[in-house]
This record gives sequence, C-alpha cells and structure tokens, in this order.
Amino acid sequence: MHDSLNYANSLVRDRQKKMRDFILQIGQDRDYFREQNYPKENTRKDLTSNKTRDIINTDESPISELKDILKFKKRLHSDKKMEKSYRKAIGKRFSNGSEIAKKVFNKFIPPDSVVDSNYNGTAHYNRNDKKIYMNYSKDLLSLKGTGVTWFHEHGHMIDDLAGKVSTNEDFHMSLLMDYLEYVKNYKRSNNFTSILDAQEAIGKDLKKSVKSQNAVSDIMEGLSNGKIKGCAGHMANKPHYWKNSNMIYSETFAHMFEAQFDKVRYKEMQKYFPNALKKFEELLEGISNDE
Ligand SMILES: [Zn+2]
Repeated sequence: MHDSLNYANSLVRDRQKKMRDFILQIGQDRDYFREQNYPKENTRKDLTSNKTRDIINTDESPISELKDILKFKKRLHSDKKMEKSYRKAIGKRFSNGSEIAKKVFNKFIPPDSVVDSNYNGTAHYNRNDKKIYMNYSKDLLSLKGTGVTWFHEHGHMIDDLAGKVSTNEDFHMSLLMDYLEYVKNYKRSNNFTSILDAQEAIGKDLKKSVKSQNAVSDIMEGLSNGKIKGCAGHMANKPHYWKNSNMIYSETFAHMFEAQFDKVRYKEMQKYFPNALKKFEELLEGISNDE
C-alpha cells in the first residue's frame, strides 16, 4: 500500500521536475512555477468510475437527454430579457451540446443566473453575488459565435457553485503537460531552433479564426505568459491578467465548458489540450453525480 503511494509520489515528483526544467527552458520565471503549488484542501474524487459511464451509456439516455432539453427550454422562456432570435440560438447551441454538459448545466444553474443582460463592461460572473453580468445584444452579434459568451460565463458559474472544481490538481497538471508537449512537438516537427520561434508561429496559427480559435488562443496566451499571441487574449487590456496562475485554470474550465456546445470549437480544444479536456470531462461527470 505504502509502496504504491511512494511510487505514485515519485512519478508526480518526476513529472514536476521535467515540467520545471522545461518551463525554465522556455523562459517562464520561477515565480510562475511556484504558483503551481496548489491549495492543499483540494480533494481528489473518484471521477472515472465505470458506474457513472454505464449510467450515461444506458438505453435510457436519450430520454434523460430530452428531459434536459425540455427543462432548459422552459428555463430560457422564463428569461424575459431574451429576444426571440437570441433565445433560439442559445436553445440550438444547448441541444447540440454534450449530454454531460447539459446535465450539469441543469443541475447547477438557477433560473435567474444573468442579473444584467445589458451590461456595458466586460462580461463576467461575479463570485460575490453569484450572478452573471453580460450583454445579450453583443453576444448575439459576436464574432466568436452567438451564445459563446453566455455559455462561457455559465461555465464560470458552474465552477464556483459546484465547489471551485477548476482547482483540481490533476486538471492543472494535464493542462500544463498538454501545453509543453504541444510546443515541444511543434518546435521539433517544424525544425525551429528556438522555443520563442515556435511560440510565435503557434500564435500565427491561432490567428486564423476567432470563431473557432478564440478560446484556445486565450488559454495559450496565459500558459505561455503572453509569448503566444493568437486571435484573442486578455493581456492587451490587462497586462497582469495571468499573473495569478489560478486564472488560467478557471478560464480554461469556462472555455472547455462552452466548447461542449460547439463541435468546431471542441475539436480545436481537443487538438491543443487533449488530456486536459478529458480530465475536464471527468470533473463534469464527478459533479453531475455528487449528491
Ligand atoms: Zn472567463
């Protein structure tokens, strides 16, 4: 028992050392790495039990999915601030979403989640009053796609209401490893001599489409400390936005939640962060079944 625990610990230490070396090599400072020490109170849950998968894969699932869609539509109609075309677009996005994301949405989101739908500043979820501030008309016409912001902010809300799920250590580790792997492989396969050149080129790749890449681009900016500049990010307006690395994880959680409702954006997420996305989905399964 103890031996296997020691073995697991040594694996984690080994992974951490590799990551630290690589982070130093690509020019992140030591403070950045130090911030990767996660709060100790995080508990790990058994998120991948076969039981939960079996429940999801039973023949009954189409019925429960239909129930989720009906419940959601009812909720949408109760939001009197939504005009018809916006409501339709949000409803369509939800119907096309993954089963687990639908279930989690309905479990955690109360009917009056958006307190200000005509907000002039940057859309956000407020942890103090547990409400969303955003602009429906802006989201309707957004280049990212109608409803992307709506689902993103609800992703933040779920993260918070389900107990700050994005603080999960394995999720952080998977995201960092995916990032390091992607940059390393990109550098190798394109014969770049420096990491910086590879990061610049990755930024160019991420400038092709706001509609499909803005979420990945934002996460990449945070992970690279601004060295990867794609089509979206937070540093242009707020240079210190990513200083607290927890921001990266909570933003990633919200982006990955939103991507559950858009197949194209989901594919992009999977291309850059395959393991973190898998971990994220396990986290969703975990909170969907907790009572
Ligand atoms: Zn956000």
